[in-house]
Amino acid sequence: MLDVRKIRLILELRESGIVNSEVLSALEIIPREKFIPENYRNQAYENIALPIGDGQTISQPYVVAKMTELLEVNNNHKVLEIGTGSGYQCAILSKLARRIYTIERIKNLHEKSSKIFDELQLTNIVSKYEDGNNGWVEQIPFDRIIFTAATESISSRIFSHIKEDGIIVCPIIKDNKQVIIKYKRKNNKLIFEEFDDVLFVPNIKGTN
Ligand code: SAH
Repeated sequence: MLDVRKIRLILELRESGIVNSEVLSALEIIPREKFIPENYRNQAYENIALPIGDGQTISQPYVVAKMTELLEVNNNHKVLEIGTGSGYQCAILSKLARRIYTIERIKNLHEKSSKIFDELQLTNIVSKYEDGNNGWVEQIPFDRIIFTAATESISSRIFSHIKEDGIIVCPIIKDNKQVIIKYKRKNNKLIFEEFDDVLFVPNIKGTN
């Protein structure tokens, strides 16, 4: 049953404009139901965000696919994710990149997602419990950075983490809305392009 729904979801994503076949196959391979609380599991392959506890959500599959596509990841890349949440976005990235470093500020979510990464044997993920706004200084530089909680702007601290020609994808809060922005570091500056309107939980300072 899940398989039929999964195939339908992949087709729907393709129709919505996701063209990168590697991204689509990562969504086909990673079992989204594993990242969702039991009482919502029958909706795992609906194209919707779902609650994961602690007031947080697992993103809608379309948004995960779109942000992953915009990140232009390849298997040489070292990626930083700020906001592990359920771990689903990170698991998708683990199929496409060399190594993912992911940070979560809610201890319970950090612990739950780490267990799932172990169960699925996603050995190229390194996760930590901290305020992601501090970055991951020991691992600088990164080829790619993804934010999965909405933020006002890219801080100079996070800017210092990205390589020249590197890409940052982030939901940015703008005029009471949120929009996905893709930044590229060029000549020590960030140039940017705007994409879809989205609805993410906010990026919050400190840990919990
Ligand atoms: N990528 C996730 C999306 C989860 S929602 C998924 O696929 O499920 C965003 C997550 O970002 C939440 O778990 C929230 O606790 C976390 N978050 C918010 N602000 C943060 C911060 N400053 N540092 C680390 N994590 C943060």
